[in-house]
Amino acid sequence: MSICHINGEYLPTEKCALPVTDLVIQRGVGVFDSLRIYGGKAFALTAHMERLEKSARIAGINVEDGSIIRDITQTVREGSLRADCPDGGDCIVKAYITGGDSAVHGVFPNPRHFVIFESAPDVKPEAYQNGVALQPTTEGRPYPLVKSINYMVGLMQEAGSGDVLECLYCPDGKVTETLKSSFFMCRDGKIITAPTGSVLGGVTRNIVLELARVDGFKIEERCPDVSELKLADEAFLTSSWKEVLPVVRVGDIKIAGGKPGPVAAHLQKLYRANLGRWLDK
Ligand SMILES: *Cc1c(COP(=O)(O)O)cnc(C)c1O
Repeated sequence: MSICHINGEYLPTEKCALPVTDLVIQRGVGVFDSLRIYGGKAFALTAHMERLEKSARIAGINVEDGSIIRDITQTVREGSLRADCPDGGDCIVKAYITGGDSAVHGVFPNPRHFVIFESAPDVKPEAYQNGVALQPTTEGRPYPLVKSINYMVGLMQEAGSGDVLECLYCPDGKVTETLKSSFFMCRDGKIITAPTGSVLGGVTRNIVLELARVDGFKIEERCPDVSELKLADEAFLTSSWKEVLPVVRVGDIKIAGGKPGPVAAHLQKLYRANLGRWLDK
């Protein structure tokens, strides 16, 4: 069961609809953010709401008076505690702001918004033990700082890729991010990941980097060359629902002989141990 807050009320998600005139439907204009709820408490809510607002601003969607972000923030808090919140409040929340109806080029003054509470997609325990595979693509994501609703190009890259979890964007021979996650590789004792701006500012990414830094890891923020993947000591990805997940294959390239490494396992433990610091009070 999944519930949706739209136009001031909570409904079963399948009962909710948007007018077909909304530019999110006609032109793919829309932004969103997704975050985890642990036991009825939102994780890193402020960071997610700030990113949502930034995505909307860059896209030209009008969030200037703050009312939409305030309404979404309140809905996340309130909805997480509802009796019909999926899985007793251990779930995913996705907040959307659409382009709405607009006749003016590149400006979206009348956005719509809605919030979906749904079960977290299953990450099999084996994925953490055995690692996952990614499908490299030479495509990139336009406007990396915008968490756009439009995943079409990335999803097209995943067609026919078998047991691959997600595509890995590698435009111009540089490794950036995956369809839905931040990407990291380890080499010569350092953790290497793309800088925010070349990629989305992953909330999980930023928290994992903060924890790793304090724990004494050296961090290099740059986009690795694709050719470095085969030299990696290990690789992993982060996102709100996957947390820290090891990557053992990228296309034909086996990372570290196809075995998950110790850094990813350590950071996943560290992340779990520190979860409470970012939970909504
Ligand atoms: C959502 C997303 C992420 C993960 O962000 P988190 O804030 O860590 O959940 C990373 N990259 C892309 C392209 C995304 O869409």
